[in-house]
Amino acid sequence: MQHVMVVGHYGCAGVRAALQGLRIGLADNWLRHISDLKLRHRKRIDYLPAEQQEDALCEINVIEQVGNVALSTVMQDAWERGQKVTVHGWVYGLRDGLLKDLQVSMDRSDVVVDIFRAAIKRYPHAPLDPGNDNADSAFDTLDED
Ligand SMILES: [Zn+2]
Repeated sequence: MQHVMVVGHYGCAGVRAALQGLRIGLADNWLRHISDLKLRHRKRIDYLPAEQQEDALCEINVIEQVGNVALSTVMQDAWERGQKVTVHGWVYGLRDGLLKDLQVSMDRSDVVVDIFRAAIKRYPHAPLDPGNDNADSAFDTLDED
């Protein structure tokens, strides 16, 4: 069995900058990606108390990356060939040294959507305005209650 780890970390300065909308470095691709995630999941992020938003965005970023890896042609082809490979999503706490398993381990194609959707739904949001849902990513259609 092979394992692919997507590991983020809490207290990430890049995530913080994106969350606070700081302009510093926003030209950077990675930061732009985080800003996009913050926008896409803003209903869930905004619903959390301020002190929990940064950790949640760190986790959501990892969940999204796990989804991206799982949907990549490399991984899809590997699973198609019957290769035993699992993608995992973890977040590392620099302060306490603890790893949090985000429970998004995916070991075959047909579990990807359900696992991704279940993981995102762990972050609650206020009731949705059905007419006001932006769909700009491959996963947006999955991110529904
Ligand atoms: Zn970082």
